[in-house]
Amino acid sequence: MNNFNPLLHTFNTPFNTPPFGEIRHEHFVPAFHAGIEQGLKEINGMVNNPAAPDFDNTIAALSRSGQALTRVSNVFYPLNNAETDSTMQDIARQVAPLLADYHNDILFNDKLFGRVKAVYEKRDKLSLTAEEATLLDNTWKMFARNGAGLDDASKARLREISRELSQLSLKFDDNLLAETNEWFLHLTREDELSGLPESQLDAAAEEARKRKLEGWVITLKAPSMWPFLQYAHRRDLREKVFRAANKRGFNGNQCDNREIVRQIANLRLERARLLGYDTYAHFALEEQMAGSPQKVMDFLDELLQAARHKALKDLEELQQLALDSGTDQTIEYWDWYYYAEKMRKARFDFDQELLRPYFELNSVVKGVFQLAGRLWGLRFMPNQDIPVYHPDVTAFEVYDDQDAFLAILYLDFFPREGKSPGAWMTGFREQERLNGQDLRPQVSLVCNFTKPTATKPSLLTHGEFNTFLHEFGHALHGMFSQVTFADLSGTNVYRDFVELPSQIMENWAVEREFLDLFARHYQTGEIIPADMVEKIVATQNFHAAFAAMRQLGFGLNDMAWHSITEPVTIAANEFESTAMEPARLFPPVSGTMVSGSFAHIFAGGYAAGYYSYKWAEVLDADAFRLFKEKGIFDRATAAAFREHILSKGGSEHPMLLYKRFRGSEPTIDALLDREGLR
Ligand SMILES: [Zn+2]
Repeated sequence: MNNFNPLLHTFNTPFNTPPFGEIRHEHFVPAFHAGIEQGLKEINGMVNNPAAPDFDNTIAALSRSGQALTRVSNVFYPLNNAETDSTMQDIARQVAPLLADYHNDILFNDKLFGRVKAVYEKRDKLSLTAEEATLLDNTWKMFARNGAGLDDASKARLREISRELSQLSLKFDDNLLAETNEWFLHLTREDELSGLPESQLDAAAEEARKRKLEGWVITLKAPSMWPFLQYAHRRDLREKVFRAANKRGFNGNQCDNREIVRQIANLRLERARLLGYDTYAHFALEEQMAGSPQKVMDFLDELLQAARHKALKDLEELQQLALDSGTDQTIEYWDWYYYAEKMRKARFDFDQELLRPYFELNSVVKGVFQLAGRLWGLRFMPNQDIPVYHPDVTAFEVYDDQDAFLAILYLDFFPREGKSPGAWMTGFREQERLNGQDLRPQVSLVCNFTKPTATKPSLLTHGEFNTFLHEFGHALHGMFSQVTFADLSGTNVYRDFVELPSQIMENWAVEREFLDLFARHYQTGEIIPADMVEKIVATQNFHAAFAAMRQLGFGLNDMAWHSITEPVTIAANEFESTAMEPARLFPPVSGTMVSGSFAHIFAGGYAAGYYSYKWAEVLDADAFRLFKEKGIFDRATAAAFREHILSKGGSEHPMLLYKRFRGSEPTIDALLDREGLR
């Protein structure tokens, strides 16, 4: 049995879960090779099928191809994030180009596209279900959006553009990293640091030691820069740091991003045009809930109108606070964070650490399971026979209100070497129906929560509790999935929709009725005091209007770069200045620019998508309002949310799904109320 590779066979375990105890590093690469080979064989079989192309032999067959590859990928990638080592990372590097080739072999297969096209063209005569129609549409778009169907010259140009764009994005990132790392503020006199809390002083001294310097060093990395802007009494130094941060990519040196930004926007326009779209935003938003640039612009504008008034009032208050504390200056951008922190402290200072004793991890898990029980009748049964990849991990069988088996849920809470930072939902198998069988999903939540010690259990911050609810919402989306095709299952939905199930759960984090179920002091048993919960809410909403204006400014900038219909010829800083004007609360700071360090859109996946952060908040507030109206444990509302949203994955357009749940499109009202912006 020594040569037995478990990844090459159906798992012989409870619920066909991955047999982690038997899987060794050396099993992965052969399994990837075998999976790719098998997948290509299936594709070839489809392409050379003498039967005329139809939905089953082409669209469904393509979606279901590569199962052997999926089996190994579904084990390898979650493990590479949650329990990795240098060998796993080597395997990931080794496999990446193989997978890229495999996907290109599908994407640029003309014969395959020919068959997809034949089915797509007769789609109206096929009497497909809604889900099948979505799968067909997605499959068609997957090819079309990559240039299938274009003439050879256009295809060649498209490939060139892709190559150039990926190089420019890398260069953008490298420049930004270099600019972030190079700049630092070296301080040698104690009065220059006045105002900084002890922990910041220590960090700044440590930073100086690392550079073999006397005194203290402030850098542009978030944990150093933000506290400095919040606490440092010296206004001139705050200005220095603020200007440096906003000058990254705009210094006229070899790391300047101005030209790169312009080239990226212009190349994206060219790509969109080649593919038949008016602008890049049209191209990008076609596959989003928002759907069109106009919809996004209207959305940004509506929020802007709503937030501006309150943001200006906040600014007035801060100006007054500044005057009261003895300065006669007009508040500038680099004063905002400083006075805002003073005001926050004066109004709702309370030590967040005081909350921890009420959020002992085991009670939190019980509480969240209870919430799922109240809302959907879910039951969670620990099962120690299900193999896990680390002793910290626990596995549960999950049953619904009909006692039907729903899913396997793994919980993996604590940090360790080999686990990436942050928290996420993942899984080892997605729900799908195959050969008449409903294969239930295997979902996993991976977190980095405060660890128990010899004397104390794991006591969470309220932020960690909130994170757990968020990820649990993603897990519900995965577990409730009730579709046919894995490609449309669970969280496989548009980016501006995927955070609805997760963010809506965060609303319960401050609901008294829910907290009363479990949030007890782990030593005294006392229920979390009401005024503490009120303070959490007040802190969350503090200066929400200002934060919104900042986000909206970024959103406008993003949309402007991706709504151009002619190549940009003016300087990048002038371009963005016009775009962001409507969201401005302070006069422009000369010599600074946002775009040069706006990695989300120039080096990340958020081009024409930055709005989606705000969009998701609007959605979750609007959806939760129904629970507020009907009761936060209302079974009927929960059932509707399950039926129309959580079970449907990406099987239909999210706006349709949403309207079925809510009766109408979302409005911004609930968010404005929640954040006190009205
Ligand atoms: Zn999320």
